[in-house]
Amino acid sequence: MDNFEFHKPTSIDDAIKAVDGKDEPKFLAGGQSLIPVMKLDMAQPSDLVSLAGVATLKEIKEDGDTLVIGAMATHATVAESDAVTKAIPSIASMAGHIGDAQVRNRGTIGGSVAHADPAADYPAALVALNATVKTHKREIAAEDFFTELFETALEEGELITAIHFKKPKRSWYEKFQSPASKYAIAGVCVAEYDDGVRVAITGAGNKVFRHAGMEKALSGNFDPSALDGVDVDAGELRTDVEASAEYRAHLVKVMAKRAVKNAR
Ligand SMILES: Cc1cc2nc3c(=O)[nH]c(=O)nc-3n(C[C@H](O)[C@H](O)[C@H](O)COP(=O)(O)OP(=O)(O)OC[C@H]3O[C@@H](n4cnc5c(N)ncnc54)[C@H](O)[C@@H]3O)c2cc1C
Repeated sequence: MDNFEFHKPTSIDDAIKAVDGKDEPKFLAGGQSLIPVMKLDMAQPSDLVSLAGVATLKEIKEDGDTLVIGAMATHATVAESDAVTKAIPSIASMAGHIGDAQVRNRGTIGGSVAHADPAADYPAALVALNATVKTHKREIAAEDFFTELFETALEEGELITAIHFKKPKRSWYEKFQSPASKYAIAGVCVAEYDDGVRVAITGAGNKVFRHAGMEKALSGNFDPSALDGVDVDAGELRTDVEASAEYRAHLVKVMAKRAVKNAR
């Protein structure tokens, strides 16, 4: 790990000032991904800007038909939040199944989506629940946010301030998790809205993606049986040490059916 300047601002404005004009600045949330990446010298930030002192980034609130979760809300806070459980219970349940208690107490929603791990849970929730990523300077639709493996639409020095989720009629997330890390080998989030159903899949490909065939079938009949005739193409999925593409294709369908069955 190389030397870096450490900053601990207490406002969004000061956090932005701290990265402005720096060589290679990085925001630090819970450090669950960034610190290991730095220890491996895969990131060598010139400046590390801790967001821990910016209280406004931790807020969770309902705003009409939108649930707003601040970027620095930890997974544990989201899992235990009455506001989240009431507005979109699938998000509270999903957050409660991320990693272990230590990871949930340090890891944040902003850090998770900025890191864009292809096996992370939140990306599926963001895409299925038609979320918007708010930064200090713009709004990015979740579908445009996750661009490639570990890549997002964020620009250098751009700070995620909150995620805005559209409340669905019902939704749920199910994953088949790695027994070691609890990351998704395949995870599926379904969300039913007045104008149709959205289905987002994580863990199975190089980034989160929607499944048009499942969405069409479920928009006609929101029942697990509607997925019987839908094909999941293994050709688009990943093979790695944890699972083959064919096995992932099977898991995606099983997880999708479970998510539909449990949706609330
Ligand atoms: C053992 C282990 C198990 C895990 N299991 C799971 C799991 O089952 N499911 C799952 O989804 N995840 C899992 N994770 C990931 C975890 O949930 C964290 O959310 C993730 O590692 C990001 O960590 P963090 O929030 O501490 O962000 P950091 O590590 O601090 O930051 C990660 C990246 O995001 C950037 N960043 C952070 N905040 C912002 C912001 N507000 N704006 C812009 N950029 C920002 C940082 O600069 C950095 O590039 C696991 C992690 C570990 C270590």
